[in-house]
Amino acid sequence: MGARQGNSTPARRSAAAKISTLLAEKWPDAHVELDHRNAYELLAATILSAQSTDKMINTITPALFAKYPDPKALAEANPAELEPLIFKSGFYRNKAKSLIGMARAVVEKHGGVIPDTMDALTSLPGVARKTANVVLGSALKKNVGVVVDTHVTRLAQRLGLTKQADPVKIEQELMQILPQEQWTDFAHRVIWHGRRVCLAKAPACDSCLLLPHCPAGSTIVRGAGKLKTMKPKPSKRARS
Ligand code: SF4
Repeated sequence: MGARQGNSTPARRSAAAKISTLLAEKWPDAHVELDHRNAYELLAATILSAQSTDKMINTITPALFAKYPDPKALAEANPAELEPLIFKSGFYRNKAKSLIGMARAVVEKHGGVIPDTMDALTSLPGVARKTANVVLGSALKKNVGVVVDTHVTRLAQRLGLTKQADPVKIEQELMQILPQEQWTDFAHRVIWHGRRVCLAKAPACDSCLLLPHCPAGSTIVRGAGKLKTMKPKPSKRARS
């Protein structure tokens, strides 16, 4: 257990390969859990999901997309009509501004089509790397980066894949140790594992298939230490 020696890049790369293989066996069909039919819907849903849950957002988006079916419709939205539709997601005033701003930029700069590059996506209002990675990986099928949310942050730390707390730095480290073709699927599987097994306050280490490769799990099972997860310190560009 916890047999990994050291934290060198080759050691972390080897650990990441084993962890990735096991997660692929455990969660072969892991996918983004925000309901969507295209890149526009996934982008809007991801912007809405900040500080909320996918389950909650999935109750909101059917009515939202019925009223605003494409970027052009959303670009012309009246905030007073949009806000009640997204109220339950929290921070609805800021999110309404981001959604309308995003849609206007998509219409004005990209002809109403969601752009498919990291630079263009992160230039849109309300869109930082995490959101861009969700859209690129899941809706546009491009492995440009690794989604680093609260679950990926926690598990990457517990599994000894990073000592960083900043999501942007965690992403850089994961990109160094994982093959590019695995970036999107790896993040989905880690998020599923984080939601179902490696919970923040009560990880089910005894029944976790990653235990032999998990330094934190070994410590928790031995009762030799308290759960320790570094609090993420999101940079400005990593908030959504
Ligand atoms: S062994 Fe425990 S801490 Fe490690 S990934 Fe599994 S549930 Fe999380």
